Amino acid sequence: MSIKKIINSFQTKYKNKITLIAVSKQQSSEKMIEAYKSGQRDFGENRVQELIKKAPLFPNDIRWHMIGHVQTNKVKFLAPFVYMIHSVDSLKLLNKLNAEANNNDRIIKCLLQIHIAEEIHKFGFNMEELDRIFTENDWKDWKNIKISGLMGMATFTNDMQKIRQEFQKLKEYFDILKEKFFNDTDYFKELSMGMSNDYDIAVEEGATMLRIGSLIFGNRN
Ligand SMILES: *Cc1c(COP(=O)(O)O)cnc(C)c1O
Repeated sequence: MSIKKIINSFQTKYKNKITLIAVSKQQSSEKMIEAYKSGQRDFGENRVQELIKKAPLFPNDIRWHMIGHVQTNKVKFLAPFVYMIHSVDSLKLLNKLNAEANNNDRIIKCLLQIHIAEEIHKFGFNMEELDRIFTENDWKDWKNIKISGLMGMATFTNDMQKIRQEFQKLKEYFDILKEKFFNDTDYFKELSMGMSNDYDIAVEEGATMLRIGSLIFGNRN
């Protein structure tokens, strides 16, 4: 299927209910432009270097989503333009993002990445850490970031039942945190989960954002 056909099929299937993020890491500009011309505006990258190199080459109505691990010393390069960071995984990073967004007179949307997979090398908070952070910090003082929800990556496996359980766990954490800390906000509402091989399960379990790469663009270089 062509890039245009796939993007259009997502557009009709999910209308305005789910945001499709086209994960363009290691994909050619030609393919990205094809996606853009098909109406795609949300693009995701997982490496800071690649993102800051690409962004200036594309139209400025693209919303750039950073979906990979971010080191605090790289935040200053992203802060002037990034739309949302899905992979916030430390208190230090939250503070840094707020400071750099403030320097740029911007508000940056953030998702808290939760460690739901069994693989230990994947990044993310656990619930105890988050509970402590939001209990101990006056997070409403972070004026330049909007904590907009959660992100998670399931275990890399063919066991669909396991993937489903991990997504269910993430949704459960989302509900708990919303209830406890974010009930009086209107922006804590996003659940970023689901990739090319598991997005249909993610949708069934409540995803509001899908991060899809190879299904749209084909294999990476
Ligand atoms: C690469 C990547 C994706 C997309 O993966 P596909 O399997 O190509 O859809 C989604 N999320 C993150 C964090 C990624 O690094």
